[in-house]
Amino acid sequence: MARGSNSPRQPLSVKKPSKVAKQAAAPEKSAAPKARKTSKTYGLKPSQRAAPVAKSPKTKADKQRVAGVVLERLKTEYPDAHCELDHTNAFELLCATILSAQCTDVRVNMVTPQLFKAYPTAEALSIAKLEDVEEIVRTTGFFRAKAKSLVGMANRLVDLHGGDVPRTIAELVPLPGVGRKTANVILGNAFDINEGIVVDTHVQRLSRRLGLTREPDPIGIEKELMPLFPQQDWALLSHLLIWHGRRTCFARKPECGRCVVADVCPSAGAAE
Ligand code: SF4
Repeated sequence: MARGSNSPRQPLSVKKPSKVAKQAAAPEKSAAPKARKTSKTYGLKPSQRAAPVAKSPKTKADKQRVAGVVLERLKTEYPDAHCELDHTNAFELLCATILSAQCTDVRVNMVTPQLFKAYPTAEALSIAKLEDVEEIVRTTGFFRAKAKSLVGMANRLVDLHGGDVPRTIAELVPLPGVGRKTANVILGNAFDINEGIVVDTHVQRLSRRLGLTREPDPIGIEKELMPLFPQQDWALLSHLLIWHGRRTCFARKPECGRCVVADVCPSAGAAE
């Protein structure tokens, strides 16, 4: 017997439904356009909501309005936002920030007590044996390159800056292991100098989702963000965006349903 011969056959008389019949049977589509998820209230009282954002803010004035709402809401949401790298002075923060590349702050905070105890100053670190530093920072990843940067950085501080951490981007950026982001971290957090905005992975993601920039690289994003926020808030802004990125606006599944800036965010609901 041929395979499948027991299967019931389709009666030959059954016709395919006509196009007209199909249309008649189809559920009626609503004439109203699909509501944007940004129109949700996200638990905010009417008095707390900002005017709805129809789409990504385009003009500088629109972006400034969104930026103002974001800054104030996140200040209220995270009144304790701060740099999560443990440190007691600019030198320690510089070491910790170099170690934080491709590594979590929690992991860095596990190794820095031993590092700072062994090498409390730039002078001490400048004469350290590379292998000893490598051993201490091993668990932060890329430990050979990081140890080399730490010792090289300490040597430059001793040779060019009397062992002190300099206070300008122009002097910080030439140090081994230091780029513009690290320089901004040091200036903003160790010296209260707002010369630029720290643009890490969270700041990149959130500023794009909020429609404040479409720039692809951190330098371009920093340039776009600077005119949107008061200069005295630049260091705090980075902390607020980083805290929000770590607690709500996750890379994979942002929790827009409980986000305090959802009513002004053009991406609200898009990746939930
Ligand atoms: S959590 Fe959602 S609504 Fe909030 S900033 Fe991120 S993408 Fe926008």
